[in-house]
Amino acid sequence: MGKLINGNKIAAEIKNEIKKEVDELVRLKGVKPGLAVILVGENPASKVYVSNKQKGCDEVGFASETIRMPDTATTAEVLEQIDLLNKRPDIHGLLVQLPLPQQIDKNMVLEAILPEKDVDGFHPINMGRLVAQEDCLVPATASGIIEMLKREKVVMKGANAVMVGHSEIVGKPTALLLLNEWATVTICHIETKDLKMHTRNADILIVAAGVPYLIKEDMVKDGAVVIDVGINRIVKEKANPELLEWRKEDFEAKGATLIGDVDFLKVEPKSSLITPVPGGVGVMTVAMLLYNTMKAARNQARK
Ligand code: NAD
Repeated sequence: MGKLINGNKIAAEIKNEIKKEVDELVRLKGVKPGLAVILVGENPASKVYVSNKQKGCDEVGFASETIRMPDTATTAEVLEQIDLLNKRPDIHGLLVQLPLPQQIDKNMVLEAILPEKDVDGFHPINMGRLVAQEDCLVPATASGIIEMLKREKVVMKGANAVMVGHSEIVGKPTALLLLNEWATVTICHIETKDLKMHTRNADILIVAAGVPYLIKEDMVKDGAVVIDVGINRIVKEKANPELLEWRKEDFEAKGATLIGDVDFLKVEPKSSLITPVPGGVGVMTVAMLLYNTMKAARNQARK
């Protein structure tokens, strides 16, 4: 019953739209959007995310650069880099890849980024504007989820939307965007007493917990739209027989596979629409980061 939402296809559409806008901005204003990423330390997952962001920039014709800093960098050193990038007119978007090493004050770092260059949308000014429904830069995973729902023509107005996960990066901004679309929103988290009671009521179920197999078939209403944000790496030794069979090629080639928070094989037949992992929300996140950078460049070119 479930139809797959093809994140790759929607992300490609968005990138094409951005590419056209880049050409126009270069032609009319002589401005090429530029994104800078600060990467502190050697976290392997962060390195992959940063390289995907750079690839995305190349695809749409942005200038991009990565500032690599050692694991031992101090808050002051990161702030110094941010200050330099804040002042550069050729850099329109700036982000610091998370997580940061323990010694660095994350809030100080995020608040040092100029709100108009804050393409991750994590600055309290952008967060506040989101709450107030003012124009702002919105965290990319959250806006990617809403964009997918819109392009799949999912009716949000009046729908029961359940958000599992309440992080600043995904859960909270997604819940706010759903509310802005007039959904009736429930936010669940680790302390929620009866998760199933809430999820079974969802017309739109969005899951960002980082817990594989959290959402089982009996927790999902027939015909629900299911958006799986979770990214969990499962090594061969920890995989169950079903997963070993389903992802045979991954295990043979890499010894591991990526799955979401939803028990996909069991939930998919009950859903009307569902995102795969990989190929769902993850690719949308990069596309929406590029969208934010385009928007930031357009706004700065107007000044
Ligand atoms: P987080 O760890 O900051 O937050 C997890 C949230 O899930 C919390 O609200 C927590 O209370 C809740 N939670 C945890 N266990 C739960 C349980 N058993 N029942 C109910 N709620 C539970 O996570 P995050 O940064 O929001 O990321 C969540 C997941 O999404 C991770 O797997 C992460 O890798 C993935 N992610 C994907 C993308 C993407 O682009 N696809 C982007 C960001 C994060």
